[in-house]
Amino acid sequence: MENILVFFLPACRDESVIDFAELGSSSSSSATSAIVLTHAIKIDNPNGPGPVLELFSEMTLAARKGSMGIIVRYLLMLAAVSFLAVATALPSQYSDFKLEDYNFTDVITRDVCIVGGGSTGTYAAIRLLDLRKSVVVVEHKDRLGGHTQTYTDPQTGHTVEIGVMEFHNLDIVKNYFKRFNIPLVLANSSSPGVTSYVDLRTGKEVAGYVPPDPTEALVRYAAQLTKYPYLETGFNLTYPVPEDLLLPFGDFVTKYSLQGLVQLLNDYAQGFGDFLKHSTLYVFKLLGSDVIRDFQIGFLTTARHDNSELYEKATAELGQDVLLKSYIVAMDRDAAGAYAKVVVKTPDGLKLILARKIILTIPPKLQNLVGWDLSSNESSLFSQFRNSAYYTSLLRHTGIPDNISVVNVAADTPYNLPVLPGVYQINTTTVPGLHAVLFGSDQWLPDAQVQADIISTISRLGTAGTLPTTTPYFAIFSSHTPYELTVPAKAIKNGFYKELYGLQGQRRTYYTGAAFHTHDSSLLWQFTETLLPLVVA
Ligand SMILES: Cc1cc2nc3c(=O)[nH]c(=O)nc-3n(C[C@H](O)[C@H](O)[C@H](O)COP(=O)(O)OP(=O)(O)OC[C@H]3O[C@@H](n4cnc5c(N)ncnc54)[C@H](O)[C@@H]3O)c2cc1C
Repeated sequence: MENILVFFLPACRDESVIDFAELGSSSSSSATSAIVLTHAIKIDNPNGPGPVLELFSEMTLAARKGSMGIIVRYLLMLAAVSFLAVATALPSQYSDFKLEDYNFTDVITRDVCIVGGGSTGTYAAIRLLDLRKSVVVVEHKDRLGGHTQTYTDPQTGHTVEIGVMEFHNLDIVKNYFKRFNIPLVLANSSSPGVTSYVDLRTGKEVAGYVPPDPTEALVRYAAQLTKYPYLETGFNLTYPVPEDLLLPFGDFVTKYSLQGLVQLLNDYAQGFGDFLKHSTLYVFKLLGSDVIRDFQIGFLTTARHDNSELYEKATAELGQDVLLKSYIVAMDRDAAGAYAKVVVKTPDGLKLILARKIILTIPPKLQNLVGWDLSSNESSLFSQFRNSAYYTSLLRHTGIPDNISVVNVAADTPYNLPVLPGVYQINTTTVPGLHAVLFGSDQWLPDAQVQADIISTISRLGTAGTLPTTTPYFAIFSSHTPYELTVPAKAIKNGFYKELYGLQGQRRTYYTGAAFHTHDSSLLWQFTETLLPLVVA
């Protein structure tokens, strides 16, 4: 069984993550769980996500096509959850934490171990260094930055952001960039060229479609938002949770006549899946008063059009304090003495980290926490998270003229919202012959399936005679999955976030990142800043 832990689970640690709960509720036979186990044992490539992810996705998709008995569903859910529990709970070959098993140079002693080197992990690391604390960052990709990703066109040298683009006009943002000598400018929010509104299911233009003016609805929305100032700093809810926060956002829209805002939100909440079904709480968290203010005064972006410069400079400054392409394989946060013990698999072999404190910044989905010594309370909380899926890419040779962007609006859905999974937008870039394509889904999909869907979507534009198209290819493709983490309204009502925040500081562990506040880098830096006094205490 150790082989499962060692080989299979790292394989799942791809950006594309399987939702076990979803799998459990949508697969067709308990026999498939046996296949999963058998298949898992056969995996021998620790870096390769391939066959296991493919198998899961095939099973999930096949199951969705047919009906299934409720007993079978529960059996499978049980099997999948038991498998995960076994895999996370089994003592691994790494969990004896004996110092003598490690070379002197493979033992890393630090004040703080930060797990995840994206927006919040990098911010925490740099700020802790400034506060004269020693840190180590464990990041499973080959770079820092997380959802920030900048593509450099090899021919022109132009850069195109395929992740985080803009930041708030706040001192914390200006100071952070200034620290790395990265100049900021006001972002230009107007999209260049011509926008075509197309139902991308058919490839046909939606005749006469004009996006609604959101101004009046935004005023009504802001009036509601001001009732909940405590949402600006986190999920600091009052109890009982106000019913409006628990309403599906679609119902909230009707209740307060916010119809004019929905298309704007469709743009701003890209990656959230069907946001009309989410509790209003999550929309308020995303479209908060800081965002509304910056709609008016403007957002900031990097003057050199390279948001990744922040992370490259942070990587250089952190030097050996960053472990890239690395992941946790065992952990003992309750170890006697001054330090938690964390065993990390790195390209240079195993390292034993002795850390006084740990900051988790990664999406806390159970399958992302393999190797963690989760308590039953932690497991029970994290297992409740569902996630949406978000994919970004740059395509060459689409045939679409360089000055034309395409926005997906459905001809026959409420508010003309696009049907997901599907392409949100095909955008112009500053590079000739290169279009940016954004794709969303309510759940994880295999990269290959998303790519095939994107290619056929573009082809439909040509077949329908809407735009000239050719067969494109991907200059870059990136999965930002799992993206938005949510729990059902009932869980929110029953105190989920009170319990989640109750974990803060327990077992030498502190928590930040989007699941603990919102998908917004600037606001996450603010949130992380409030955590630092607790971490350095
Ligand atoms: C396409 C896109 C555009 C966006 N645009 C904007 C924008 O313009 N402005 C804005 O403010 N926000 C934007 N956001 C949202 C913003 O990027 C996120 O809110 C922010 O990055 C979240 O920070 P984080 O630290 O929680 O996660 P991330 O930045 O994703 O960092 C998490 C890190 O943890 C790593 N990781 C994951 N699992 C593990 C593991 N098991 N072990 C080790 N490492 C792991 C990941 O590789 C990643 O580096 C955008 C997001 C996307 C996807």
